[in-house]
Amino acid sequence: MRDEATQLLSSLIRVDTTNPPGNETAAAELLRDYLEANGLECELYARTPERANVVARLRGGDGPSLLFLGHTDVVLADPAEWSVPPFAGEVRDGQVWGRGALDMKSQVAANAVAIASLAREGFRPQGELIFAATADEEVGDGFGLEWLCEAHPDAVRCDFAINEGGGDRLELGGSTYWVCSTAEKMSAPFRIRVRGRSGHASMPGIADNALVKAARLVERIAAYAPPREVQQEVAAFLRVLDVELETLPPVAAELVEPLLAPTFSPTMISASRKRNVIPALCEVTVDCRLLPGTTPADVEPTIRDVLGDDAEYELEFTEAQGGTRSALDTPLWRAVESFAETAEPGSRAVPICTAGFTDSHWLREAFGTVAYGFFPARMPPEVMSTLIHSADERIPVDDLELGVTWLRHAAHTLLA
Ligand SMILES: [Zn+2]
Repeated sequence: MRDEATQLLSSLIRVDTTNPPGNETAAAELLRDYLEANGLECELYARTPERANVVARLRGGDGPSLLFLGHTDVVLADPAEWSVPPFAGEVRDGQVWGRGALDMKSQVAANAVAIASLAREGFRPQGELIFAATADEEVGDGFGLEWLCEAHPDAVRCDFAINEGGGDRLELGGSTYWVCSTAEKMSAPFRIRVRGRSGHASMPGIADNALVKAARLVERIAAYAPPREVQQEVAAFLRVLDVELETLPPVAAELVEPLLAPTFSPTMISASRKRNVIPALCEVTVDCRLLPGTTPADVEPTIRDVLGDDAEYELEFTEAQGGTRSALDTPLWRAVESFAETAEPGSRAVPICTAGFTDSHWLREAFGTVAYGFFPARMPPEVMSTLIHSADERIPVDDLELGVTWLRHAAHTLLA
């Protein structure tokens, strides 16, 4: 299975699914051929022909269903920055190299090998084991899981799902922990529009400079420190580590910091397009991440308080995505815990809310699925984070094999 997953990952990397434009159909067909050769029922679902999603299922009885979820698209790779060609799928020094090796063709390949091997062994789930490799996660234009949940809900409806977004192995105070993502912050950017009156820049007195007025608001946002709050994921994290928030080791404190409060980061500003024209309009975009369970409407009064009532402005949330969580006391959680124990006796699983969001929220919103991000990796998280969406992305074959072991363990634990 180790070699099988390695070969499948190499082949998947060789299919260039850079999004945009994606072209995920070639990857979906490759996976379909592999899965059908292993006796699985497969179906391609595509909103447009070149952007197919592939779903396979292993049917059993009326028991619970478990979905192995992954996306087949990848982000851009500039070959000039790489020490190997990014779409060659080279295996070198015990690692598979290439765009998608971590995010996330590795997990897609492991998902496929796990379900294929179970099918070959005659595994009959109590309920159903489902495999889905979806398009368009990296851009999110509605060709992937979002569309499947709407247009073909029966294809992906499930009780439990395992997705990307977690699996880091941490060593803290002499103990080992595996981080499982059970919740995600909401991305809720907003725009502040400040109006003034234009005029010639050589005579500032006759105009009303919107940029200068907006600068005051930007400073107020930057200076704001929202009150911290310990939500259930951080509370459970602290409980497993048996420490207080104040005494967390630095590595863990860094991990937990963005999970204690919303964040507000002004990132974009636009005003006059001409040096000698005082702008009558200035727009500031603020990247805003909310704790799960909080909505833009909840936080808007706070933002207005921070901005103050001495300035006129318009405030508009432009989108809101993610911000969902799954319960912690579930059979899937117990599968993660028992996996930790078998992978490394004495190691423990810890839940985390991630600062970014994945496709998991579509399942949680559509079906109330218990969805966790968990693909265990021994590669140190500080190394992995420099490779994801970056040059020389690669995965140790050992980690790929560990992933297959985890997925098979989950299927056996939840569905046998
Ligand atoms: Zn991803």
